[in-house]
Amino acid sequence: MTRYRIGEIETNSDSVDFQVHVARAYREKVRPLCLCREPGIPMYIAHFEQGFLVKRMPDSGEEHAADCESYETPADLSGRGEVDGQAIQHEEGGLVNLKLAFSLRRNGMSEKPKEALEHSSATATGTRLTLRGFLHYLWEESRLNHWTPGMMGKRSWFVVRKYLLLATESKETKRSPLADVLYIPEHLGKQRQEETIHRRTMKLSPIMGPGNFGKKLMVLVGEVETIAEARFGFALKIKHLPDLPFMMSPDLHKQFDKLFQPVIRLWEHVDDGHLMAIATFTMDANGVPEVQEIAVMLTTAEWLPVENTHDNNLVRMLVKQERGFRKNLRYNLTYDKPIASATLTDLAGPALPMYLDLDTLVGKWASSDAIRELITNSKLVSWVWEPKLGILPPLPPKYTKRVDAPAR
Ligand SMILES: [Zn+2]
Repeated sequence: MTRYRIGEIETNSDSVDFQVHVARAYREKVRPLCLCREPGIPMYIAHFEQGFLVKRMPDSGEEHAADCESYETPADLSGRGEVDGQAIQHEEGGLVNLKLAFSLRRNGMSEKPKEALEHSSATATGTRLTLRGFLHYLWEESRLNHWTPGMMGKRSWFVVRKYLLLATESKETKRSPLADVLYIPEHLGKQRQEETIHRRTMKLSPIMGPGNFGKKLMVLVGEVETIAEARFGFALKIKHLPDLPFMMSPDLHKQFDKLFQPVIRLWEHVDDGHLMAIATFTMDANGVPEVQEIAVMLTTAEWLPVENTHDNNLVRMLVKQERGFRKNLRYNLTYDKPIASATLTDLAGPALPMYLDLDTLVGKWASSDAIRELITNSKLVSWVWEPKLGILPPLPPKYTKRVDAPAR
């Protein structure tokens, strides 16, 4: 729940007439103030088909209190800093324009799947989002990298998909709404399966048909069930799509194996985790989808992204201790670049960036020097864990808001 001041009125996001106040403010061009800090931080109102959303202004995330929904870890402590303002462009009226490093049209390149994976470290810069960068962006915009103990047991695919779709509002790439480009499979329940499959066909129909040059592609975001050898090449099976395997050519699969082997291994280790795939795909005249480019990301059971076993241990510990935190995401950055793994937000004072110093424990990860430099340049006090020394340094105590005793 977030408290806002809208004109003369004080209200909160859970209040029954919240939408009424926000609608009026939108018409009268009144800026709501987030009251996590006095005298309030200006917000803006975005108007969607389904209603209104109060959103933080670009670049104001750090001004909010650490435990406010609108708080944002300083962008330079994650991969966000590199892409904000370049690959992610905020335009007038709250519209966001994304520049992507992968093609959404069939071209000569996609016939050669060697080029068809996440762009290599050498070419990745902040000017265009790689597939992984794009997935991280969607994850962060959906606040799926946020965690508070109250969320335990409440995240299902239905919920995850809902927030991912909500996050596509007011965002476009090359003048196409993101919602038209993305395909996120619906939860396939036991009932009404036919209706679900019918909606799926309608969603995918714009890209069905013979594969001509220049034909549009779509971007799949879904949870991997299996990637296994098929009669021809390989098949990527996605949860909730048991009857729609995505074909992968042997070349693409080989490249995939090489690049994403550490993630796949970690998936075996984190057995209650979710392996998320993001992939561009075509559909042939028979309605068979074929992957053109692909990247994967592993999350914990709580859908919080993790990069390696130590990162996973840190997240498990924070979840178990019922802490509130944000998982910081890498976007386009390569693994040898330092980021703060998480940011603790349930504190009375400023948020606490949490670093994992893996030193030589894991190959090609950021060096101790690189992490120290990032910490020195940050305005925030930091927490560092060196897993090879074993025990975790103590965490600052959790701040519990004082609840006044009820009046008698
Ligand atoms: Zn706030």
